[in-house]
Amino acid sequence: MYVVDVYKERALTTTFQIDDAILVNFVTAVAQRYHDHPFHNFRHGFSVMQTTYILLRDAALADALSAVDVLAAITSALCHDIDHPGVSNEHLIASGSALALLYNDRAVLENHHTFTMFDLLLKPQYNILANLEQDQYDECRKTMISCIMATDMKVHVSLCSRLQASAFKFFETGVFPYNTDVHSDREQMLEALVHACDLSGQTMMPTLAAQWEQRVLAEFIRQAEEEESKDLPVAPFMLGLAESRLAQVKTQIDFINYAVRPVRRLFVCLTACLCVEVSVCGVLYNTYSGNFCSGFGYI
Ligand SMILES: [Zn+2]
Repeated sequence: MYVVDVYKERALTTTFQIDDAILVNFVTAVAQRYHDHPFHNFRHGFSVMQTTYILLRDAALADALSAVDVLAAITSALCHDIDHPGVSNEHLIASGSALALLYNDRAVLENHHTFTMFDLLLKPQYNILANLEQDQYDECRKTMISCIMATDMKVHVSLCSRLQASAFKFFETGVFPYNTDVHSDREQMLEALVHACDLSGQTMMPTLAAQWEQRVLAEFIRQAEEEESKDLPVAPFMLGLAESRLAQVKTQIDFINYAVRPVRRLFVCLTACLCVEVSVCGVLYNTYSGNFCSGFGYI
């Protein structure tokens, strides 16, 4: 099982004495708690975990982060959409769903994914965190919560603004903007990492990107049809997708320009700041145009 290999390759199983059988139980249970939606299925969770793992192999990032950080990032990436119902927060709120009621209309899905992950982890047969010291567990839980909550697109703009302010600070002072000895600073880096990896489908090779595109569009079309049938509001970017390839392409271009490009450009830039000179980072920041910077070339 590839996921188990990732935990082993990063020495998480030995560092935190994670029992092999419990790790397999946990990953199997996570896979079962994802549903068979076109996009928000276990393959998406796996893909985000895999992308996170690849970027964490970057030597500069690896030096900056602790083993608890790596454990938290990989586990939260794997679980970040667990038990996803295949519709958006806006749909859950507009339809008066039980989940929206439970979480007071705020980050409904992200709260539910985080709860579902810990609900599994608190069961002894799935508890891969059982042998962490209390302070390690507290730090790990805090980071996992932050990483999943940062996948809410409602916080995308503020997350990018923070990253941009950090990048500018680096260009002005030449000093890396995060103190990697401080947990909250590393947590901010990991939030950006998991968020960037969540949006990585459209940065993969064209054949894979096209498949993820068709999958997310299929999920949008299904949601829009349900909303139209129930007289619920339909998001503008979901309108007309079933009838028009042009509408599909426009939705994808807007998504890439609004969501994918900003966070990846800024994250690549800050990762590069860990190991190269200001002038080089400036070039990366100004010329970034796709898959060709830092670790993103590996995807
Ligand atoms: Zn996701």
